[in-house]
Amino acid sequence: MKRVTVMSTGNELLYGTTLDTNASFISGKLFPLSLGVRMHLTVGDDTDDLERAFRYALDCSDIIIVTGGLGPTDDDNTIAALRRIFGFPVEIDERSREKMEHFFRDMGTPLSGADLKMVEIPQGARVLFNSRGLAPGFIIQNEKNTVIAMPGVPMEMMEMTEREVIPFLKKECGAMERASFFIRVVGMKESEINEKIKSMDMDLGRFEWGMTAKQGIVTVTFAGKEEAAVDFGGIASEARRLFGGGILDPSFERPEQEVIHRMREKGMTLAAAESCTGGLIAKKITDIPGSSDVFVGCVVAYSNAVKMSELGVSKELLFRFGAVSEEAASEMAAGVRVRLGADIGISATGIAGPGGGSPSKPVGTVCFCLADSRGSRPFTRRISGSRERVRAFASLIAIEYLRNYLKQEQG
Ligand code: AMP
Ligand code: MG
Repeated sequence: MKRVTVMSTGNELLYGTTLDTNASFISGKLFPLSLGVRMHLTVGDDTDDLERAFRYALDCSDIIIVTGGLGPTDDDNTIAALRRIFGFPVEIDERSREKMEHFFRDMGTPLSGADLKMVEIPQGARVLFNSRGLAPGFIIQNEKNTVIAMPGVPMEMMEMTEREVIPFLKKECGAMERASFFIRVVGMKESEINEKIKSMDMDLGRFEWGMTAKQGIVTVTFAGKEEAAVDFGGIASEARRLFGGGILDPSFERPEQEVIHRMREKGMTLAAAESCTGGLIAKKITDIPGSSDVFVGCVVAYSNAVKMSELGVSKELLFRFGAVSEEAASEMAAGVRVRLGADIGISATGIAGPGGGSPSKPVGTVCFCLADSRGSRPFTRRISGSRERVRAFASLIAIEYLRNYLKQEQG
């Protein structure tokens, strides 16, 4: 597999004032192809540093994709650094010069000699026309290496990558679309997922795989290495064995989407009673377009008084078991279900912290319940971390429980 280095240049990237989004965009575009991005290099605008970085990247990769440093100013040194290595003369790209002349004429400003630097390219290079800006990109090649240079402005670079660079890599560098497959796992730590995947009963050496986590949902992507035959069916069945109900249906990005889809199919309705989550369950559900078909409403019952008056939780029960108890969660879920007239009620009541914990109910203890016409299913979880994390995970757990309940009900 051809080795690729993605290089980002610019002092602003080193100062921490600008986040390097170019490298992640380019790598994301290359991942589905049979090219291996082996390194990201971030370098300032100093020509010596750029030259050193280019020499290093040329030494250990076949293809370098570099962004930035193609403008007219003194800090634009990409061509100067490459020139020291490849020794090419520079020339003006006429099409880009004409575009620049028109642009400056329309603006009513005269074109200066320094501006011409922006449309310089290595002599004989393949030009990557810049349809969103002025500085063209270019491609130079020798027997061993290919260097693809693009402007740093993300909008210009993105358009150029899609229109010119990806087709070039496919046509001239043998890059092929490779098959990929993903699973989404809900509410499990990345390290745990990592261990489970490593324990899969299959030859993982034939795949590249990586994880991204977002709001408690981890997406694991598998891509076949070059010519290897890919057995994604094998991964799917191993994943089902190892993760069980924790895997999200691939047509949904989040568990609440699946919940709404399943409830809508059945014509069922949902209500929530929330204490420690303060409305986060309702927020997640109502973030999904069309949730009004399913979701009737929510009572944020933060105080005991509201738990009693709005949800019918009994005073004796609160006194005996406390507001953070499976007993209270059960009455909250049953109460909201009846009072708001829904088929299912879900509830969450817990200690989000940082204060308020006790030895028997430490910070992070959250009691939940799902109530339907047949009764209540309470359960308790301990969630570690900050107040924000406890609340976020509690809302995720409630929705995830509901998702698994619906799956079981519906088979
Ligand atoms: P340049 O082509 O080096 O003149 O870059 C132009 C502008 O594009 C810079 O001022 C940055 O704001 C932006 N830029 C350059 N490189 C990156 C990058 N790797 N990620 C995000 N923005 C960038
Ligand atoms: Mg720059």
